[in-house]
Parts: sequence; C-alpha cells; structure tokens
Amino acid sequence: MSVRFVIDSLDFVRNAGIRRDKIPLLELTRLHDLLYDHAGEVTYQICGYFDDNNKPILCLEITGTINLCCQRCLDKLVQNIDLQTFLLLTENEAELDRNNEDDTMDAILAVPDLDVWSLIEEEIILSLSISSRHPDGMCKMHKLLSNENNSIDVSNLSHPFKALAAFKKIK
Ligand SMILES: [Zn+2]
Repeated sequence: MSVRFVIDSLDFVRNAGIRRDKIPLLELTRLHDLLYDHAGEVTYQICGYFDDNNKPILCLEITGTINLCCQRCLDKLVQNIDLQTFLLLTENEAELDRNNEDDTMDAILAVPDLDVWSLIEEEIILSLSISSRHPDGMCKMHKLLSNENNSIDVSNLSHPFKALAAFKKIK
C-alpha cells in the first residue's frame, strides 16, 4: 500500500518545501467513477513559498494521462492532464471567505495535516469538464446518431462516411 503525502502546510512554506512524485491512478479512488480504467499515473510537484506580499503560497503542478469514459458512447476517452494551480494559505475561515470573493487566486485553509493526494484529486476533478466526450467525428455513438439522422435528412449523406474514416484512422 502506498503512503499518502501529508504536510503541515505553513511549515512546508516556511521551509520552502518542494516535492515531486508520482501517484498511481489506482490510489486516487475519488476519481474512479469518472475513469474508464485505472491504468497509469499522474506526476505532481508541490512547492511552498512566500509571495511578494509575504503571503504563504502553495504551487501545485499535475501532469499525466488518464482514461475517461466518453459520456456519449461510454468508450475510452484519453485525456491529458496539465495543471498548474497557486493556492493561498489562509489562517482562518474569515480570511478564506474574503479571498475566495476575489477570483485572482484560490485559497485554502492552512492546516497542519494537509493531504496532498486528496488536494490533487480535487484539482483534477475540478479541471475535467462536466460532460467529457469524444469529438463528433471520433465518437461511435455520434456515428450511430448521424446514421439515424441521415435516414431522414438526405443532404447529410456523406457525413457518416467521413466519421467512419476518422474513426478508423485513430484505431
Ligand atoms: Zn464517444
């Protein structure tokens, strides 16, 4: 079993902490509902520093490739992850509310036991569009729907063949 990475967030900033590591997708269980399979891993880097105004910041970078389910045909949809987030650490809820009103930077509460993996999970989930699906020409279901439409609308007749060609190309 893997050991989750937990930091004292303010300490991490004071020590100019930096860590780079990989997490197997198998371990990111909150993502699993969205995934086609659990193959692969994401790479992250987290570092802490004080910005020009002496505010404690965590910078989080996440990269990797995950396999989502297409919401239309339920087949595999490969999604590249390439995220960079800056998070302002706040001392209390009031400060947190104040900061979240202005949209320039996300803020989180500075806690002594910040679970970095779960933060990463959250950032990935937030980054995914609510309805992820293949581009029209590459989706099986879209091809089927196009075929149905074509039996009514003759002017679109060439379309399914183009879609099929595109589909074959990526196979
Ligand atoms: Zn699809």
